[in-house]
Amino acid sequence: MIDKFDRKITYLRLSVTELCNLRCRYCMPEDGVCKKCHDDILTEDEMVRAVEAAAAVGVNKLRITGGEPLVKKNILSICERCAKVDGIDEVCITTNGTLLTEYAKPLRDAGVSRINVSLDTLDPDKNLYITRRNSLEDTMNGIRAAIDAGFKKVKINTVLIGGFNDDEIYNIASLTQQMPVDVRFIELMPMYNSGDFDKSAFVSCEKVVDTLTDAIPVFNDGVAKLYKLPNAIGNVGIISPISSHFCNECNRIRITADGKIKPCLHSDTEISIKGLNKDEMISAIKKAISEKPQWHGDLSYDERSKANRNMNQIGG
Ligand code: SAM
Ligand code: SF4
Repeated sequence: MIDKFDRKITYLRLSVTELCNLRCRYCMPEDGVCKKCHDDILTEDEMVRAVEAAAAVGVNKLRITGGEPLVKKNILSICERCAKVDGIDEVCITTNGTLLTEYAKPLRDAGVSRINVSLDTLDPDKNLYITRRNSLEDTMNGIRAAIDAGFKKVKINTVLIGGFNDDEIYNIASLTQQMPVDVRFIELMPMYNSGDFDKSAFVSCEKVVDTLTDAIPVFNDGVAKLYKLPNAIGNVGIISPISSHFCNECNRIRITADGKIKPCLHSDTEISIKGLNKDEMISAIKKAISEKPQWHGDLSYDERSKANRNMNQIGG
């Protein structure tokens, strides 16, 4: 379906849970979130139905996210069923990687074609600080497990945080020289409650380009500007939702674990699909696409996202 700003909506991000085994400071409160009762979250059948409804209006790419999708007990069944939906060409998953040693192979068998792993630092102490858990080794092992399971070009997503990991840009980028991975740096987004970061944490991804002086620009990939380091296997991308928004190319909608369609990540417009049949879901998705705003408005340390949710309750 094409929205009123001529954008073709082909990509759905489906959050399957708000829960997570980490507590990244920019994403989740330290105490976590209260587990919602079953009646307040989409059932597996409803999730699959929502994907069918989205496919019926032209969505062909699905990303499963969360919270942490791999803490969801029925994650393999959700992936397997979604991958079989007519019209869905690609099922991807975004994970913190900590459970991939167990799940990489079964995810591949379930029909997942791509994996993105979030990793903000290569320093164990900084990892403990940012995730409030000791998770670096598990995440690194998870990345290797995904590669061993046959996933091509596993993507590593790094939130660039001034004063925290901007001194690691080169080290993290050089993972593309050491293993078959792409690295994407993404600007820190000022969510409803994204941690105790001060203004200096919100740095532009141009800093990545300035740091990687020996990287050469390669083709751009949708929302990411891509570069390649010498002898690298994968590429390094920058995604700049704050300093250079890409709203005019936005092809996505989101569905939260509690069954709300979000036409825009940073808007509080939400349309509920909980309890709807497939035709009703199709109508709701069409309405959401028709209400998709032209852009997300200014975002900065002072101008927070209007989403009124933390990222674990949206899915990134
Ligand atoms: N738990 C999974 C993970 O960490 O990859 C999936 C869910 S997480 C909410 C999805 C993505 O959102 C992650 O790459 C995470 O780094 C990113 N994210 C969360 N809060 C963010 C923020 N305030 N600014 C930018 N990215 C954020
Ligand atoms: Fe969990 Fe992902 Fe949020 Fe970190 S970014 S707290 S891993 S949902």
